[in-house]
Amino acid sequence: MDTKLKGKNALITGSSRGIGKSIALALAKEGCNIIINDIAPAMEEAKKTASEIKALGVNAEAFTADVSDYESVEKMVVEIQKKFQKIDILVNNAGITKDRTLKKMAKGEWYDVININLNSIYNVTHLVLPLMPDGGRIISLSSIAGLGGNFGQTNYGATKAGIVGFTKSLSKELGKNKITVNAIAPGFIKSKMTEKIPVMVIEQLMELIPMKEMGLPEDVADLAVFLASEQSKYITGQVIRIDGGLGM
Ligand code: NDP
Repeated sequence: MDTKLKGKNALITGSSRGIGKSIALALAKEGCNIIINDIAPAMEEAKKTASEIKALGVNAEAFTADVSDYESVEKMVVEIQKKFQKIDILVNNAGITKDRTLKKMAKGEWYDVININLNSIYNVTHLVLPLMPDGGRIISLSSIAGLGGNFGQTNYGATKAGIVGFTKSLSKELGKNKITVNAIAPGFIKSKMTEKIPVMVIEQLMELIPMKEMGLPEDVADLAVFLASEQSKYITGQVIRIDGGLGM
């Protein structure tokens, strides 16, 4: 284990599996204590992830909260404060897709995605900030869909573009506290989310990706660790693409 982030506490939302779990593991390998979050039905998996992380020699615990629900996040943050006192690194990772062309999109498919992907960013960041010391880090998962758009993803693209505006604005507010605020915009990364993409579409995508393969959650995690580290202390308000060259 490296000890670059020893003594730091990181909260990663939606981190029982997928990219969030990879980020949690990678931060733990740098000596960071880890706060796992997920919704109630995923708690068994979240607890397993926390145990896996504890085995690396850091403190780790799983907390239930639906990030789209302000009161639920409020309760979680009170519990986190009791056990961890401070949160140095916040990774806004939880997110969902409900793809449909806008013409066919039901009201619920729009609102669910906006609530979970974007309103959550207010809920979590607003409530975590009082626990964040100067020099903290806020990293949010945007997407190339928020930069270039994506067919069937007006709801998702709107939230991921919203995260870009949020990141840039908040970085201007928190610079004086030496808190950096950045976003990661992944392309196509192997996870449960992208398992839903039909094989034919994946094959077409490979034609467009210069690296000719999908990214791995670990690739995103390595970038998150850099943005969480001391080495990135003068980088703020940025949206960093990690897409194998897809968006050039
Ligand atoms: P996954 O679906 O694998 O993981 C998302 C996690 O968020 C799951 O653990 C999920 O829980 C959790 N979650 C969902 N809703 C809530 C909620 N209301 N409160 C708390 N947790 C919740 O997705 P990825 O790991 O692929 O994606 C992680 C992030 O990266 C997302 O923001 C996504 O938009 C972004 N991203 C992913 C890309 C990709 O190619 N995979 C590309 C670009 C961006 P549960 O298991 O119960 O559903």
